[in-house]
Amino acid sequence: MRIGIDLGGTKIEAVALAADGGEILRRRVPTPTGDYAGTLRAVIGLVAAIEDRLGARASVGIGIPGAISPATGLVKNANSTWLIGHPLDRDLARLLGRPVRVANDADCFAVSEASDGAGAGARSVFGVILGTGVGGGIVIGGRLVTGPNAIAGEWGHNPLPWPGDDERPGPPCYCGRRGCIETFLSGPGLAADFAAASGRSLGPAGIAAAAEAGDAHAEAALARYEQRLARALATVINLLDPEVIVLGGGMSNLARLYASVPRLWRRFVFSDHVATRLLPARHGDSSGVRGAAWLWPATPDPGPRSRPSAATARPASPAASGKGRRAPPRRRRR
Ligand SMILES: [Zn+2]
Repeated sequence: MRIGIDLGGTKIEAVALAADGGEILRRRVPTPTGDYAGTLRAVIGLVAAIEDRLGARASVGIGIPGAISPATGLVKNANSTWLIGHPLDRDLARLLGRPVRVANDADCFAVSEASDGAGAGARSVFGVILGTGVGGGIVIGGRLVTGPNAIAGEWGHNPLPWPGDDERPGPPCYCGRRGCIETFLSGPGLAADFAAASGRSLGPAGIAAAAEAGDAHAEAALARYEQRLARALATVINLLDPEVIVLGGGMSNLARLYASVPRLWRRFVFSDHVATRLLPARHGDSSGVRGAAWLWPATPDPGPRSRPSAATARPASPAASGKGRRAPPRRRRR
């Protein structure tokens, strides 16, 4: 049995997967924001609750909004900033009494959607999380693209491209710079943009509902959001030219993005025609947590004769490497 955990900025979700990839059990708790020790306790509590319920011991993989630095072995680049500078993988391994694999949450998401999700069958997939933060992961030919800095796909901390005068220097970002894509395209980024223009405080879902009801401020905020997302993704297309871009995270629930953004990005992509498809995650909020479970191979191992594709593929990153070196085995389609 494999347990996958998605350590998000607002919630920590855990799922138990059977050897065939089927979901057995799911649990979710609020994230103890700002509290590293509390976050460790929450993760351990989720694992214990699942294992008690199922009466079995599991492997544990965790997706985090950041990465374990290959240089220091400590968490870096996490917008859940209270994780930064801690040896999360080693702390959890000690507390759980087993090795724990930690990878970037957008990488987990991208692997999940490229394997049997919205990007299944595509040769190149850019997976994007638009949530509390903004992250990205790249899967080409079924393999996660990584690099020596464990930051491949971290497009959320590039500056918003083609900024207007009213977008410069842009909001301050926790990373120390201003005007990062994340400060505009995260859920809190949209809420802040709406609040600045309207003087009202609404979350992304509230803004979407208000726009549907004809609220002009909400509609204008969403239109700005779509325009900015189109510009930001156009630079990804210019660089990577992916077949599919899959959106996940809370903002991916905005259904209008999938028609409006590809219409808007045409102006910015360096091509006469843009064939890249923009799709919502097939597994919705479950993709990150599923990808985290797949950081470990399925057990029991069915052996090389029954499943040669799984047997020849290697699992993603061992604990200390942060971003996975290689995608988990592709699941067979059901
Ligand atoms: Zn930033």
